[in-house]
Amino acid sequence: MRVLVTGGAGFLGSHLCDRLLSGGHEVIALDNLFTGSKGTIAHLLNRPDFEFIRHDVVNPILLEVDWIFNLACPASPIHYQYNPVKTVKTSVMGTLNMLGMAKRVRARMLQASTSEIYGNPTEHPQTESYWGNVNPIGPRSCYDEGKRVAETLMMDYHRQNDVDVRIVRIFNTYGPRMAVGDGRVISNFVVQALRGETLTVYGDGSQTRCFCYVDDMIDGLVALMQYEGNDSAEPVNIGSGDERSMNEVVSCLSEVLGRKLDIAHHPLPENDPVRRRPDTTRAQQRLSWQPRTELTEGLRRTVDYFRETLKI
Ligand code: NAD
Ligand code: UDP
Repeated sequence: MRVLVTGGAGFLGSHLCDRLLSGGHEVIALDNLFTGSKGTIAHLLNRPDFEFIRHDVVNPILLEVDWIFNLACPASPIHYQYNPVKTVKTSVMGTLNMLGMAKRVRARMLQASTSEIYGNPTEHPQTESYWGNVNPIGPRSCYDEGKRVAETLMMDYHRQNDVDVRIVRIFNTYGPRMAVGDGRVISNFVVQALRGETLTVYGDGSQTRCFCYVDDMIDGLVALMQYEGNDSAEPVNIGSGDERSMNEVVSCLSEVLGRKLDIAHHPLPENDPVRRRPDTTRAQQRLSWQPRTELTEGLRRTVDYFRETLKI
């Protein structure tokens, strides 16, 4: 297959490019390098089956491809809140442009949606049939609502124009190649710990998330793209079911590093969801997917990566 990966120089995108290339596909990575960097794909740039295009998905483009993975969008709160209007444009106009291309060249398209479309959930765990509890006017809305509209566009292009679509609701994912300044919790804690700094725990640290190791997430994205069932357009949650509070994440990292870690509490960001855990029955039944990497093991690999990157 000839595959386009938008956001291909980002954390998930670069791992996806690796996986697709090792599966024998030809890959075009498209990215505006807002949060991504050429460093994540430096090892691919000389390959004849790989191409990098610096482009912003807000602007239309036409490429002859079979599959489109639309991952372009800043994912960390500090980055998507830096220019919220641009974040909305990236999700809405970016997805619209990619769907227009998919329709024209008859490509299959997968949209990277997010657990954030559930907002601060009133149902736990979250199944795909839950409609969510999202603040439409808060600081996270540019991301949450942008992704919700992206899902709407995917379904409307599917119903109206018969575009072959896949929607994955990605839950917190971490691992090597997260940017040092990404701002999400795992990279923050690991970088702070390795630098001997105090860990920044927002709020009292009792809020929960489920952390999925990047390799497991990539397995899920590829499996969903390949899935051929009649229900293939329906959204699928992909994420770990291992729910941990931020305080537990600190303990786990402390265990991996073999030393006690100092923490300081900082104010909890506005609209920060209290609990989050995916119901992944659909992914298990339709894709035979389940996460394999324990948090301790994933943290160990992430620590090794940041040790090398930071030369500590
Ligand atoms: P990331 O910030 O590392 O990657 C996003 C990439 O998109 C970057 O390379 C960035 O430069 C690029 N980009 C941003 N705006 C663009 C634009 N307008 N045009 C072209 N490129 C643009 O984040 P990530 O964790 O790799 O996330 C990838 C996708 O997965 C995003 O769509 C994100 O919303 C989704 N997602 C990720 C997680 C997670 O935990 N990692 C969770 C839920 C959803
Ligand atoms: N968080 C934290 N310290 C940090 C960064 C984040 O305690 O340095 C918390 C944050 O408030 C949230 C959780 O960790 O409750 C996950 O945050 P992240 O930004 O990684 O993902 P998201 O909130 O988008 O799920």
